[in-house]
Amino acid sequence: MNCPYCNYHDSKVIDSRDVNEGIRRRRQCLSCDSRFTTYERLQPTSFFVIKKDDRREEFNRMKLLTGIRKACEKRPLPTGTVDQLADDIEAELYRLSKAEIPSAVIGDMVMERLKNLDYIAYIRFASVYREFTDITILKEEVDTLVGSQTETSHPSSQLPLLPDDELETVARKRQRNRK
Ligand SMILES: [Zn+2]
Repeated sequence: MNCPYCNYHDSKVIDSRDVNEGIRRRRQCLSCDSRFTTYERLQPTSFFVIKKDDRREEFNRMKLLTGIRKACEKRPLPTGTVDQLADDIEAELYRLSKAEIPSAVIGDMVMERLKNLDYIAYIRFASVYREFTDITILKEEVDTLVGSQTETSHPSSQLPLLPDDELETVARKRQRNRK
């Protein structure tokens, strides 16, 4: 573990304590004397994903991340959103502590989260994952989403670039202009 300040490769442990299912270590860099904290946790055993054709494949975080990233391509999402999403899903999957998890369960988890995050990304993901062969089903999905989007005052597809109170003012002005 390199020092986060000067990148020196060695540090000494100045304090060590048990915290929920792990060990927290307070360290001091041997070069610049900066202090930082590390956590040691047990790596949960991996699980297998049951594919649509019943084949088993070891869970691959990279694959999950790539799928989400593709769906979110060029969407106005803050840096780190996609990684955070993948992290959350991965953590939830491990919490299930199953040896095997159907790919549909993982796909649904991604869809559920994308729906709340960005509906274009959601539709993209859904069209690949659910293989919308029937265009009417896809259209129904879009209509439902667009309907629920207009009901909320803060569309989740547009992440706030301004502080909340400024946004409110902008939104109110827009509403007045519309009348
Ligand atoms: Zn250092």
